[in-house]
Amino acid sequence: MLNLKNVSKTFGKQHALDNISLQFPKNKTSVIVGPSGSGKSTLLRSLNLLEKPEAGEYDFNDLKIDFGQKKLSSKTILQIRRKTSMVFQGFNLFPHLTVVKNVMEGQVQVLGKSKDEARTEALHLLDKVGMKDKADAYPSQLSGGQAQRVAIARSLAMHPEYILLDEPTSALDPEIELEVLKVLLELAKEKQSLVIVTHNLTFAQRVADKITFIEDGKVGFDGPTEEFFSSDDSRIKDFLAAMS
Ligand code: ATP
Ligand code: MG
Repeated sequence: MLNLKNVSKTFGKQHALDNISLQFPKNKTSVIVGPSGSGKSTLLRSLNLLEKPEAGEYDFNDLKIDFGQKKLSSKTILQIRRKTSMVFQGFNLFPHLTVVKNVMEGQVQVLGKSKDEARTEALHLLDKVGMKDKADAYPSQLSGGQAQRVAIARSLAMHPEYILLDEPTSALDPEIELEVLKVLLELAKEKQSLVIVTHNLTFAQRVADKITFIEDGKVGFDGPTEEFFSSDDSRIKDFLAAMS
């Protein structure tokens, strides 16, 4: 379980996160939605300490962090980064390495696996995301959706407890988007713990166990998916209408 309690983050006068308390359960898919600029990315980035909020508590299993302290130790940051893997929008694959080597790299460098072991695991994961036939291609030879699936395989290779995805398909054409969404639906079915920020409400409704609606840096709703989509709350209804 990953918990945030009374977390706040400001950029100058801008309250990006305003006293947020949330839980992200293990083996579930948590989806974060909300208007542009509401604080979704800041929230997701805080989960793997790419952002350091000024106040609040962070609790990951037994590892507790008080954001109020001046600086987080690099040991803590490393521990959290290994348990929570952020999938960036596909464009941060190593360009000079083939697809399979991209998925091997962290396994060898960080987890200390042998190259043979890492290759076997990489090919297994590439197969899982439908990219095994491109194992020897270079990132520049891939479509956006293909690159994104390789990025997901690379995250999976590190066996993080949580995978965090910030608008994983926003840069993709609709038909290519589907390939990536299918992979995420499959991971959700396998009970991989996921936290996904998305503007795609159809996908959110299908994949999410729970929805968090962020508005002006505050939690406007946090609860079961069906409840969100059938809410009588006028702000949620307005948001859903604006997005459809
Ligand atoms: P979008 O849907 O457009 O991606 P978002 O919900 O992800 O929006 P955030 O990126 O979290 O929104 O931004 C929340 C607020 O914090 C915005 O007002 C934004 O301008 C501000 N903000 C975010 N990052 C920074 C930064 N590095 N420096 C200054 N302000 C920032
Ligand atoms: Mg964002």
